[in-house]
Amino acid sequence: MRSGKLSFTTPILVSLAGIFLSFIVIAVLVTAGQRKELLEEYHGMNHNFAHNMAVNYTQSILRENDYVLNRATAFFAHDDQLDATVSGDRDNGLKLLMQLLALMPSVSSISLADSQGHYLRAPQVLGNNENFNASSRPWFMHQAEASMFNHYTRSYTDFFTHNPTVSIYKPVIAPDGKLKGTLAFHLDLASMGFSLRTMQAPMPGEFFIVDRDGKVMLHPDSGVLFKPYISHSLISAMTSGENSLYDEKSASWYYYYSFTNPDWFVIYKVSASTLDARVHHQSMLISWGFGTAAVMIILFGLYLRHSSRTVLMNIINAIKTGDVQRAPKLEAMLSKAIESNKERERTWARQATIDALTNCKNRRAFDGDIAALMNDHQPFALALVDIDNFKSINDTWGHLNGDIVLRNVAREGMQVLQPQGISLYRYGGEEFAVIFPQPHSDDALALLEQWRMKVESRTWREEGLAVTFSAGLGEWHMEPLNQLVASVDEALYRAKQQGKNRILQVSSTGGSNA
Ligand code: GH3
Ligand code: MG
Ligand code: MG
Repeated sequence: MRSGKLSFTTPILVSLAGIFLSFIVIAVLVTAGQRKELLEEYHGMNHNFAHNMAVNYTQSILRENDYVLNRATAFFAHDDQLDATVSGDRDNGLKLLMQLLALMPSVSSISLADSQGHYLRAPQVLGNNENFNASSRPWFMHQAEASMFNHYTRSYTDFFTHNPTVSIYKPVIAPDGKLKGTLAFHLDLASMGFSLRTMQAPMPGEFFIVDRDGKVMLHPDSGVLFKPYISHSLISAMTSGENSLYDEKSASWYYYYSFTNPDWFVIYKVSASTLDARVHHQSMLISWGFGTAAVMIILFGLYLRHSSRTVLMNIINAIKTGDVQRAPKLEAMLSKAIESNKERERTWARQATIDALTNCKNRRAFDGDIAALMNDHQPFALALVDIDNFKSINDTWGHLNGDIVLRNVAREGMQVLQPQGISLYRYGGEEFAVIFPQPHSDDALALLEQWRMKVESRTWREEGLAVTFSAGLGEWHMEPLNQLVASVDEALYRAKQQGKNRILQVSSTGGSNA
């Protein structure tokens, strides 16, 4: 029969399941939290990149050009420097402009025009220039628009190269306030964009600059230069100085930084899938860690279940056999409990062979002991002792006194026999048996006589009470037990016949030996 109360597998499995579930909850929470944190960290990284590209790269190049433009216009504004350069010694003027050009790697050419539209371009462009009218160019400054600031044109097609370009220009205004002309730097956006290729972005994405129309101003790939790249709606959503926004249509994040002069937007575009892949990769690493830990929990749990089974099996075996070896501490207590359990068992076994009333061995012990001697072919002598007239003792003095007589007769027998190492057995009601193994079988008669006289000479508390016994004695000659008992019984019967209170031996001829 199986008892649920004894099942240790269930509580172990339940505890394990509890630990495992708590672990899973923690793992899910940590992974989800980590995911959000990672995403924010990546956003921060991309923001930083866009910011650095705008401020430390683009803006520093533009400021360099601004600075040279300011100094150069101040130079041409004095005296008639502008007229002398454009209309005077043009070779010298060209040299001067080329010196300026060498200062600015991001500028491909310089134009200097007076207010009438006479102009000088460095480097010089040869060929048919007759149709060129400087005052029709977007960078040409008419008096009405003249202001002291640097201006950026929108992108336009260069008259000579037919390439789209952007120019930065400034009016040359004499100290008396007269507009003398315009100085313009034509930016080499293709080569500027080229150096963007060397920039290390934190994650795969597209980095470029567009103007307010969404046309590309700078891009590592010069092929897309001046093409519309960003929709108007997206540009108009870029309202802050710098921020990021998510575009559903392209499924991409746009990290932007906006300039005011020029009216450009620095943009770092990263697709949501790239960002997700990064976060996914990181959270996969964490998940793997948790997964491994979960497997470890399960394995250790199975081991716990298995080993506790084994330990309990060992305990059960030890309780059964009483055999405990190598048992420290807690296990020592357990083995002690097992040993005392075994000791109790031995006491029970001993008690099972002792007669409760007389304290001598009982009939069961007699049967076992005599069978053992016979099996081993050990020679011995057997005596059967029967108290005389015990029925009348019971009748006269009561059953309780009868018991006292029985106990005293047995005690006196044991006093004679035990010192010799000989056992006394209660064979039946008021009958005893004595087994005399070698070498005592020769003294058997003498010892029985000693006991008989002890009982006979005893004075009892009850007046008129006298107790005697009769006995039969015989040696074992390898005959079966019932035959031996029958012959000893016969000797006892003869002792009773001959007047009781005597011991008769089995005669070898089956006759009396008295
Ligand atoms: P004999 O001399 O021929 O042996 O006579 P007897 O009276 O002893 O004969 P019998 O064997 O017939 O009587 C035995 C009596 O012993 C019968 C029974 O009531 C009594 N008896 C047996 N066992 C006990 C016991 O444990 N306690 C007491 N008080 N009496 C017992
Ligand atoms: Mg009897
Ligand atoms: Mg009797």
